[in-house]
Amino acid sequence: MSFQPNSPAARDVAYVLHPYTNARAHEENGPMIITKGDGVYVYDDGGKQYLEAMAGLWCASLGFNENRLVKAATKQLETLPYYHTFAHKAHLPGIDLAEKLINLAPVPMSKVFFAGSGSEANDTAMKLVWYYNNARGRHAKKKMISRIKGYHGVTIASASLTGTPVNHPGFDLPIAGVKHTSNPHYYRFGQSGESEVDFATRMAQDLETMILEEGPETVAAFIAEPIMGAGGVIVPPETYFEKIQAVLKKYDVLMIADEVICGFGRTGEFWGSQTVGIKPDILTCAKALSSSYLPISAVMISEDVYQPIADQSQDLGVLGHGYTYTAHPVCAAVALETLKIYEEDNILDHVRAVSPLFQERLHALSEHELVGETRGRGLMGALEIVADKGTRASYDPKVGAGAKAGAAATEHGLIVRAIGDSIAFTPPLIITESQINELFDKMTKALDDAAGAIH
Ligand code: PLP
Repeated sequence: MSFQPNSPAARDVAYVLHPYTNARAHEENGPMIITKGDGVYVYDDGGKQYLEAMAGLWCASLGFNENRLVKAATKQLETLPYYHTFAHKAHLPGIDLAEKLINLAPVPMSKVFFAGSGSEANDTAMKLVWYYNNARGRHAKKKMISRIKGYHGVTIASASLTGTPVNHPGFDLPIAGVKHTSNPHYYRFGQSGESEVDFATRMAQDLETMILEEGPETVAAFIAEPIMGAGGVIVPPETYFEKIQAVLKKYDVLMIADEVICGFGRTGEFWGSQTVGIKPDILTCAKALSSSYLPISAVMISEDVYQPIADQSQDLGVLGHGYTYTAHPVCAAVALETLKIYEEDNILDHVRAVSPLFQERLHALSEHELVGETRGRGLMGALEIVADKGTRASYDPKVGAGAKAGAAATEHGLIVRAIGDSIAFTPPLIITESQINELFDKMTKALDDAAGAIH
């Protein structure tokens, strides 16, 4: 395709290397340029409206024009636009936000460390785990276990934890000492005649086998999203985390809950950990912490994790970790205002009120000829396209069934996320019932179009 000289599209192709994009296809097709947002909708540069059924990247929980967040940012920019928290320095937004998060935590937590992104939060969690075990004299206990198709970010460490197909090839990842255990997707990996509960038992056995093979004295922590997001919205099978955590306890392995997507009401509880029964030693969060209006993430650690870290920082002189933007005051002020809005607008009650319709409309799509499985909790869901509902066989990847359905949705003014042949939905938490109906009406049409294009 040729682009108008000097147009935004031409300049984008000329200058921007896009994340998660096929660079050659981008040179050919150019970008989709989004120019403004309003509630659950965004608009492209041609003025076309889209219902943003992914809240951007599972993140803009309050939609795309929450003015209170603009005001909170402006106020903080006018007061103290930047300061840091190194070397005993502090500022009020950082203090207030840490206190608030500790009060909201799903289990008693002791301290909060701030970073700029989910990747940095998980990177930090991994470093703190190493520091903690060195502090305890367990110098061999450093290995991390995550799961196939888990998503934890893209820095060298967090991309290693990530277990999705595109994040390791070409990058010489994962780094040594990061292992990936079984994916708990019952529909795909449950064996014939195996109940969901038995499948969960087998998943926990797989984890135990891995820990024993590696040597429990070398395994430090297990990280998991309460409900896997970018791996395709995989809801854990019944009893899964209960059994996983029993194994972790047995071998003194820390549990890290990656709440980057699930935190702040997405699953119908404030934390995904509460929805699926995780009692984390470390919790990471980001995205909806600030409704993603500004970048900020947090790592919460328990008192048991904190104490050896504090001792070690004294022995070594300082905790040698921190980002220029750790607890950035403007980001922290926006996060605080976001949490205030969640409380004042009873966002959790709203999610609980509208999610039955969301789940009902989602599950109704399983009647569609293309859909093999629908799955979800709260305002988080996915459907999986299959070639044969009986055998659950997938289409040949060359068919691009998921991509076709995603493209058809875009045509209908709906932005979804195709993950292989799964289509994910995580709309802003402020979505109304009529907008949920609009979302699934549009998705139904998109599936019809995709079926026509495939067959
Ligand atoms: N953890 C989870 C569960 C995520 O979904 C993501 C991003 O989607 C990350 C971590 C990484 O966050 P970021 O993209 O802010 O680095």
